[in-house]
Amino acid sequence: MYFNHGESLTEYYDKVVIGAGAAGLYYSFLQGDDLSILIIEKNKVPGKKILVSGGGRCNYTNEKILKNSYFSTVASEEVNDTSNKIRKYIAKYPPEKIIKIFKEWGINPILKSRGQLFSSIKAKGVRDALINKILNKNTTILYNTSVHIDDIKYSDKVFSITTNNKNITCESLIVASGGLSFPKLGVSKIGYQIAEKFGHNVTELSPALVPLQLKESKNRSKLSGISLPVQIRIRKNEIYDDLLFTYKGISGPAVLRISNYWNKGDKVSINFIPNENLTELIQNERSLGGKKTIKTILKAYLPSSFVDLFFESNNLQNTKIAGISKKDLKIVVDYFTQLSLTPTDSEGFDKAEVTSGGVSINELDEYLQSKFIPNLFFIGEVCDVTGDLGGFNFQWAWTSAYLASLYK
Ligand SMILES: Cc1cc2nc3c(=O)[nH]c(=O)nc-3n(C[C@H](O)[C@H](O)[C@H](O)COP(=O)(O)OP(=O)(O)OC[C@H]3O[C@@H](n4cnc5c(N)ncnc54)[C@H](O)[C@@H]3O)c2cc1C
Repeated sequence: MYFNHGESLTEYYDKVVIGAGAAGLYYSFLQGDDLSILIIEKNKVPGKKILVSGGGRCNYTNEKILKNSYFSTVASEEVNDTSNKIRKYIAKYPPEKIIKIFKEWGINPILKSRGQLFSSIKAKGVRDALINKILNKNTTILYNTSVHIDDIKYSDKVFSITTNNKNITCESLIVASGGLSFPKLGVSKIGYQIAEKFGHNVTELSPALVPLQLKESKNRSKLSGISLPVQIRIRKNEIYDDLLFTYKGISGPAVLRISNYWNKGDKVSINFIPNENLTELIQNERSLGGKKTIKTILKAYLPSSFVDLFFESNNLQNTKIAGISKKDLKIVVDYFTQLSLTPTDSEGFDKAEVTSGGVSINELDEYLQSKFIPNLFFIGEVCDVTGDLGGFNFQWAWTSAYLASLYK
């Protein structure tokens, strides 16, 4: 709807959504046809993160929401309350709901480990299905248009946004502008700036689900490309999953997941033989005569090149189990079952899947509406809600979009 506002043309919409990502698109899909909606998107295409997700197969939810599936960066005394609140919210729009909707669109869930549900079609198909559903409605998408903080005004309960020489006004503003991770896919601080402009607290922002870097060494490049299942630990937090050595350090699901607990200076402890007790294996071998070398035993459980690298830095290469000293045995067992590494840094927002921190949900009501400004909503990754690896972050995008859509 257009009307003249002084000199310039003003467009009025019931709702304006900033960001055509998972949360913004799903929110728009959930709106009734009677409402006029404008989505403003800085990229020239929608849902770029959906396109690259799950290795191109969009891990769009997880069938097992656990106590530690989500976390936020609130003060320690609020942690339990906040994580209960997140799970309570997810329970209002649980994985079954999105699974059902996606099935109706011809997207079937493919179950992988840890309850991860991937789409039966390519991620592009998921993104396209969302767009097709929205374009049947009274929704306009303005691409190639970046919203800047100084362009947003609020008075007499109406928001106005000036962009691309247009004045846009609306009654409800839905901030679905995502986080800061993977800047090449189009990110900005706009969501956090809007929150702060309207009196909200934005908690500390940091890269999450991110690879960790190790000190430069010749071994680092030799290990690059080796992948193996591990148990990785930071303080009391433990993850069993696959680790990948990279050119810069360590990555893979185990590392991305433990990175959520990692602060600069923290050590990580890695058990490379998590499904066996190495000491017991060696003792059994000894009781059989101990004729095998320690290296042979290790190679039965670990990638050969990884084992070879360890023996490059000592003279235990040909040592038989029967002949190994207690001290050397401890060196071997400690290396393979509790190697302690101190990452120098994470790989930062460039390689992080998500952003930890954001707009505190404790300052938003149950519709994720600002407690300070009516009709201002924050959904998706811009909120201080971070999911574990495995579909939990998209699940938050769907759930938060749904909660905001309930507000009438
Ligand atoms: C490589 C990669 C793989 C991932 N894989 C998975 C996965 O398999 N499963 C999973 O659960 N999660 C995955 N994630 C995380 C998931 O993509 C995000 O949690 C999710 O996309 C967040 O949705 P959102 O709508 O809040 O934000 P986004 O999807 O980031 O959407 C925000 C939108 O806002 C737009 N925008 C930003 N600033 C402005 C501005 N100033 N003006 C206008 N528009 C703006 C952006 O261009 C973007 O389109 C992955 C992330 C990455 C980076």
